[in-house]
Amino acid sequence: MGRIDYTIIGGGIAGLITALLLAERGYRVKVLEDRYPGAGATGAAAGLLVLHLKPQLLEVALGSLSLYKRVAGRGYLFNVGALLFTTPGCAGGYESVMREYGLTAYKIGLEEASELAGIPLRGVEGEEVLYVDEYLVDVGSLVSRLHSILGELGVQIADTRTDRTVEGEVIVAAGAWSHLLVPELRERVILYRCQAAAYEAPRPRLAIEDDTHGYYAITHPGGDLVGGDGSNTIIKSPEEGYTPDQWEPYEILERISKRIPGAEEGYPRRVWSAPCTTTPDSLPLAGTLREGLHIITGFDGLGITLAGGTAARLVDYLEGKARSMGALDPARPMPPAPPDRPPEPYDECPNSNT
Ligand SMILES: Cc1cc2nc3c(=O)[nH]c(=O)nc-3n(C[C@H](O)[C@H](O)[C@H](O)COP(=O)(O)OP(=O)(O)OC[C@H]3O[C@@H](n4cnc5c(N)ncnc54)[C@H](O)[C@@H]3O)c2cc1C
Repeated sequence: MGRIDYTIIGGGIAGLITALLLAERGYRVKVLEDRYPGAGATGAAAGLLVLHLKPQLLEVALGSLSLYKRVAGRGYLFNVGALLFTTPGCAGGYESVMREYGLTAYKIGLEEASELAGIPLRGVEGEEVLYVDEYLVDVGSLVSRLHSILGELGVQIADTRTDRTVEGEVIVAAGAWSHLLVPELRERVILYRCQAAAYEAPRPRLAIEDDTHGYYAITHPGGDLVGGDGSNTIIKSPEEGYTPDQWEPYEILERISKRIPGAEEGYPRRVWSAPCTTTPDSLPLAGTLREGLHIITGFDGLGITLAGGTAARLVDYLEGKARSMGALDPARPMPPAPPDRPPEPYDECPNSNT
């Protein structure tokens, strides 16, 4: 192989997608991976492509969607309906933002929500219910597919146990490990544990995103009801992220049972976790850190949703097609890191002008 233009450190969704886009544009690319592709947060993801977002992030998420449609196609990407239970006054904001982008979103009543879910659902006075079209990505298959396309495009995926050679410009896509490679990121990334569980419990036909009780649950094509929440624990080292909290799945099941009758009889069959990263302002970090050194990380539990669109922007920027990375620029001014994890991007309900 000739001279390498870009070495990407990290073979998670961010590194693999960035490698793909660069290789498709004719650059010679190498990916360095410490363990195996998908070994970090990517391999643990539930795979929900969340679209009820503020416009700024929705545009990024739609970039991911069109990329995954092109790369993964049928079999890896499922259009799933989702029921969004929001606190009063939130549904209208999501509805208008999503509709503005040509997406399906409309308010419904609890009875219709139950019919769509195929099981009875309990409501809470004052809350609003929105039906939205969202997507589920089979992340394991997507990673395998990316791996094989990268091979066809001549991208080398090197195991750092045998090859640590860095050539050309460097893109750090090492997820929760990124700040270990680039010390100036220490003040800009917050590490926390992302966790999910597979439950033996009644299974809705649609995804449920329950802001009233604070969890999401989705029936995976394999039959498992997979659920988790956003209130994850801050950790000091990425490795801590792999030790799940054994109580959390029971707490989440209790919340699920407030919505789904019969879930109280259920139990978690399997629980898993991995380290995730966020930033003090909850937006990804993507762009140039210094000459020849670039970054793409900080997806705040939404890396499957945001990595594709973020990588597309980064590659345009590296090629000079975009003048700046805007709100994702890693050098942007940021508030000091809060003591807890900042709210996830979808925790903040939009009004039409956000
Ligand atoms: C339980 C769980 C559920 C989730 N569910 C969803 C969901 O439904 N929807 C959604 O959008 N997001 C979800 N996420 C979040 C999403 O998985 C992450 O945001 C995303 O995978 C981050 O991707 P990444 O490529 O930045 O990092 P990672 O996937 O962590 O990849 C980083 C890679 O870098 C490698 N690496 C580290 N250091 C080095 C080094 N020095 N040299 C070489 N390689 C190195 C690691 O081995 C790893 O493979 C979930 C996460 C978890 C854990």
